[in-house]
Amino acid sequence: MPDCTHDCSTCASACGSREKTSLIKPPHARSKISRVIAVASGKGGVGKSLVTALLAVRARAMGQRVAILDADITGPSSMKAFGVKERATGAEDGILPVETRSGIKMISMNALLEHEDDPVIWRGSLIAGAALQFWTDVIWGDVDIMFIDMPPGTGDVPLSVFQSIPLSGAVVVTTPQDLVEMIVKKAVNMANMMNVPVLGIAENMSYFTCPDCGKRHELFGPSRVEELKRAYHVRTSARIPVDPALTQLVNEGRIEEADTDPVAPILAEVLRSRLLGR
Ligand code: ADP
Repeated sequence: MPDCTHDCSTCASACGSREKTSLIKPPHARSKISRVIAVASGKGGVGKSLVTALLAVRARAMGQRVAILDADITGPSSMKAFGVKERATGAEDGILPVETRSGIKMISMNALLEHEDDPVIWRGSLIAGAALQFWTDVIWGDVDIMFIDMPPGTGDVPLSVFQSIPLSGAVVVTTPQDLVEMIVKKAVNMANMMNVPVLGIAENMSYFTCPDCGKRHELFGPSRVEELKRAYHVRTSARIPVDPALTQLVNEGRIEEADTDPVAPILAEVLRSRLLGR
C-alpha cells in the first residue's frame, strides 16, 4: 500500500480511515478490553444467555479476565444464573460492574433496577442507548474477553450494538427445532454485513442423554449444525445437550459449577480471534 496522504480522493485503498461514517464508540477511559465477542441468536429463548454464561465460566476457569455485558435489556438473565444479587454502584466517572463468585465482571439491567422483576417498558432507541451505555459508561478495567449477551433477533437494538461496539467475533446460538436455516442465516448475515467473523454456531438442546441407558436421543430432530457450519463458512460448531442439571444450576444461581466441556471448541476459536486495536 502506498504511504497514506490522508487524501482519500486520490487513493484506491479500502482502508479503515475511509470509513468516515463508522459508528464505533470508544469504551470508558478506564476500560482496557482485549476481545469482545457477541453471543447472538435469531430469536429469543434458544439458550443464548446459557451459552454466554458457559463460555464465560470456561474462560474464567482458564485464568482469563472475563466480563459479561448483558445487552438483553428487556430480558436480562445473566445475574440470576450466577446468583448475583448486589446492585451496581457508581464512581464519580462511571458505573462499577458487579462481580460473580469466580470473579467475572458483569453488568445487566437487573444490576440497576430497584427490583429484579421491574419490567423495562421502553422504546427501542432507549433500549439501544442503555446497551451502549454499558459499553461507554461502565468502568470495566482490564478485561481479556468480554462476552456480550445480545438482544435477540436482528432488529434495531442488536443492529446498533453490532455497529457501535468493536467486535472480535460473534457466536450464533440456535436449537434444532428452529426454522434453523432461515433464523441462523439472518443472524450470520447480520454479522457478515457488519464485517464481524462468525466464530462458531452453538446448537443448544441438541440431544438428551438417557441417564438410565446412556443412549443419545435427538429430541427436537436430527442435528443440522455441521451442515450449517459448512454452508455458512462458520469456523466451528458445538452441540450442547438438554441437561436438567443445567436448568437447576441456572435456577439456583450456580452456573459456575456447570460442566463447560460442550462449549470448548467455540471457546478455542474465541481465544484465536482478533485482538482489538491490532
Ligand atoms: P435466551 O437467552 O436465548 O432467551 P436462556 O439462556 O435464558 O435463553 O434459556 C432459557 C431457559 O432454558 C433458561 O431457564 C435455561 O436455564 C433453560 N435452558 C437453556 N438451555 C438449556 C439446556 N441445554 N438444558 C437445560 N436447560 C436449558
